Amino acid sequence: MRFHIMTLFPEMIMSGLSESVIGRAQRTGLISVNAVNIRDFSKDKHLHVDDYPYGGGAGMVMQPDPIFDCYQSVTADMTKKPRVIYMTPQGRVFSQEIAKELAMEEELVFLCGHYEGVDERILDEIVTDHLSIGDYVLTGGELPAMVMIDAISRFVPGVLNNKDSAAGDSFHDGLLEYPQYTRPEVFHGQPVPEVLLSGHHANIEKWRRQQSLKRTFERRPDLLLQAADSLSDEDLHYLELLKINACQS
Ligand code: SAM
Repeated sequence: MRFHIMTLFPEMIMSGLSESVIGRAQRTGLISVNAVNIRDFSKDKHLHVDDYPYGGGAGMVMQPDPIFDCYQSVTADMTKKPRVIYMTPQGRVFSQEIAKELAMEEELVFLCGHYEGVDERILDEIVTDHLSIGDYVLTGGELPAMVMIDAISRFVPGVLNNKDSAAGDSFHDGLLEYPQYTRPEVFHGQPVPEVLLSGHHANIEKWRRQQSLKRTFERRPDLLLQAADSLSDEDLHYLELLKINACQS
């Protein structure tokens, strides 16, 4: 899978994605990250890529021409128009579902804005998706692009060593993941839950499912509504018990 990022800060992207799992995925050729500097396409003698907003107002706006030339260069060898994702707080909020869907693409192009944003006409011309990482405003689109590339890459076959790690993650089945434990068996007087040491796989699976439901009920009850169709009778019964306990305490 190939990621192309149009940005004013390519080093930030390249160094941010060079470590750990995503760095290894690049080194083994499972993914590639190509951060391209929009400023290289400026025709201005001072390499400006932004200007004052028409109509007045604070801040500067990124100009359309350097972005268009950058886009043409990035897509020159592509055989079909790729999905072009503009990082914006005004977009659909990125999620695990969107990450999974985008991981089916062979190439993705990201456009990172800066200053007050980007001239609307270039967005209308090249962008296919407007995505946000949450309801707050950052100074630029680089961190959101890195967040998305990390989450999408985890769905590229081979990127995660253990094929099960993505399957058990939070949001995979609409619920939060159960708590995890490792050695030592007792930490600061707190033992690991006994069932995890029992070797009884069915009981461990049942405990994990219940912990997953409990955690989602306590921390993100909104997710339970969305996951309603995938809950079994046993799950629903356990949730009823949790509700009764919560009312009594
Ligand atoms: N004036 C813009 C607005 O109100 O929508 C915000 C501009 S912001 C200061 C500069 C750039 O940061 C944006 O063009 C976008 O690329 C990026 N950005 C900021 N917050 C973001 C978020 N929550 N998700 C994705 N990108 C974001």
